[in-house]
Amino acid sequence: MVGVIYGISLSSDIHPSKLKSVIKVDPEIIFDAPMFKLLTFVSEYYHYPIGQTVMSVVPSRLKKNLNQLRKFELIYQATPKLTKAFINQLPTRQLRIRKVAEEILNGDLRQADAMKLVSNWSECINQLEAYGCLKSKKYNPKLDVSTVEIPLLNDEQKSVINAITKKKGYQASLIFGITGSGKTEVYMQLIKHILKESQGQALVLVPEINLTPQLENRFRTRFPNQKLVSLHSHLTDIERLDNWRKAKSGEASIIIGTRLAIFTPMPFIKIIIIDEEHDMSFKQQDGLRYHARDVAMVRAKHINIPIVLGTATPSLESWHNATRIDNKYNFLKLNYRAVKNASLPEIKTILVNDKTKNGISRALVDAIHDRLERKEQSLIFINRRGFAPTLFCSSCSWTAECKRCSSKLVVHRKTNRLKCHHCGYDQKIINQCPLCDSMNLRPLGSGTQKVEEVLNKLFPGASILRVDRDTTRSKKSLTLLHDRMNNREIDILVGTQMLAKGHDFPLLTLVGVLDADNALYSPDYRAPEKLFSQLMQVSGRAGRSNIKGQVFIQTAFPNNPVFEGIKKHNYEIFSQTLLQEREQMGLPPFSFTAILRVESKKLKYGEQFVNDAAKYAESLSNKVVIYDPVRPSIERLKGYERFQLFIQANARKDLQNLLRQWSTYLRQYPLANRVKWSIDVDPIEF
Ligand code: ADP
Ligand code: ZN
Ligand code: ZN
Repeated sequence: MVGVIYGISLSSDIHPSKLKSVIKVDPEIIFDAPMFKLLTFVSEYYHYPIGQTVMSVVPSRLKKNLNQLRKFELIYQATPKLTKAFINQLPTRQLRIRKVAEEILNGDLRQADAMKLVSNWSECINQLEAYGCLKSKKYNPKLDVSTVEIPLLNDEQKSVINAITKKKGYQASLIFGITGSGKTEVYMQLIKHILKESQGQALVLVPEINLTPQLENRFRTRFPNQKLVSLHSHLTDIERLDNWRKAKSGEASIIIGTRLAIFTPMPFIKIIIIDEEHDMSFKQQDGLRYHARDVAMVRAKHINIPIVLGTATPSLESWHNATRIDNKYNFLKLNYRAVKNASLPEIKTILVNDKTKNGISRALVDAIHDRLERKEQSLIFINRRGFAPTLFCSSCSWTAECKRCSSKLVVHRKTNRLKCHHCGYDQKIINQCPLCDSMNLRPLGSGTQKVEEVLNKLFPGASILRVDRDTTRSKKSLTLLHDRMNNREIDILVGTQMLAKGHDFPLLTLVGVLDADNALYSPDYRAPEKLFSQLMQVSGRAGRSNIKGQVFIQTAFPNNPVFEGIKKHNYEIFSQTLLQEREQMGLPPFSFTAILRVESKKLKYGEQFVNDAAKYAESLSNKVVIYDPVRPSIERLKGYERFQLFIQANARKDLQNLLRQWSTYLRQYPLANRVKWSIDVDPIEF
């Protein structure tokens, strides 16, 4: 068993026969004092046991005790012995060896590519090595350094960098800058400045979806002489461990990573940068429910280093911190696009209703048509994959629902299946209504597949590509997409929010948003803020080079403040308004909240647990408001009945005090093993 030594004591209340001895201490997982302090803080703040907290941040191979050997990728090179003639005299049945040999003869072969070539690749390699036909060495990615052109900073960028570098020690800064205003450039120049000091390390956090190979390459080409590693979920366990070690040893000086990377041990860390700080993916939604931005803030404070947040649409929390009178954060603005002549796209709303044919308005169809004639590209954005959100019986109004969740089954036409997007349940599509036997079943609403089909009918000559989780799973396919877009092989992209961020397509000049209104119906008080930032990001895709872009947003509510704000590209007024509303309603950032989430197989256990938990919480404090237990919008998930309890306080201290006593109580509660429960501090989802 792998365990955690948190402290050492000379005596114990536990009987010696129940105590285990330490067989071996793994020197690799010893955290330095600042990291230990951070983990302790996180465990206490999120009310998550310290052992589990530590285990959540240790690379999985270390936990499984599978660590040891450091592995790296090899590259195979031909020796003079490997010739066409040599391959030809190999027995014909050695088909796979021939294939590998041909490939190596054509040029050096990376291990990663060899794996994809044939199934028994390692045997083939061994055999060829035995023939003396190849030699292997450690693979080091080569970079095309010649093309690096470092732009001269503009005045806005210069003053941002000056403001951040002039003060030593801890200081939080918020860079509020539209897409394309040169934030990434600022990050890179800040890092350059920091790395001038010997052995400095920089940590850059980005949302998962933004950590594209393009972004990584941009940093790599800018810092050809620095060791850069990335940490994200697409790495294999070995790669992750390897990169983690490079960060921990100080060998790597730039670490780009997603959420979890905030816990990377970095002995020489000198700055933390968080791009798209408003992004919800920085909050972990299960297990240790931490917010990477908030943890980063504490880490920076503990070790007294600067932290920089950047975004076009700050979270209201950060906005508040940057604009309040005592200026908790340095508030820095980049108001203009950095590339000369690049202007902001024109944003229009288009009024739609139930009668809008196929869900795509005439105006949008015309605009796509114009782009096709001008050989420019369009992006149609709909945040729902599949063909249609559900199957509907027009005789009796029955809709297809998941048996394990209280949600609708999504129609997938290409594979002829009904799928639950919450639990993965999947069945063949049916033709007859199970309730009234009528054959009048039809897909209701639209998703990416339907839009793709409609566009194919409307523009038969155009090359249309759908990008969602069903078509595009790997980073590699996103890179391919990039190349195809830039080579003008694609006229129209249809996609989900996967496409909203981080991609830069110079020939894309039109963006159409089909389903913006969904967010307006949401019970979540953060929905308008989320919608605004999504729309802003999507709009940022249009006209990044010198051709002016256009954005069409289809909506039934064109006068909604979200749309008014977005049309003027004005997040400032919008967020001030939202912030005032939050203040009037006493919602965060003007109060502090937590949610107790409860799940049980049997309804009555969950119900009893949550009710008793509420009663006990009431008895603990009169400074904390305990709301009535409710069912979340998806009442049943994967066969579990769900409940939640929202609590709120005006002071963080009061909330934390209550949570401490409450969680101790709940852990000992008799029903606790019949339910799954968790406490979510500073929740962002309801
Ligand atoms: P953001 O991160 O705010 O979206 P980027 O840093 O990616 O912005 O900059 C957008 C584009 O502008 C990039 O192509 C970048 O190379 C370019 N750029 C950034 N700063 C400058 C500058 N000072 N002069 C010219 N081009 C710049
Ligand atoms: Zn029916
Ligand atoms: Zn389901």
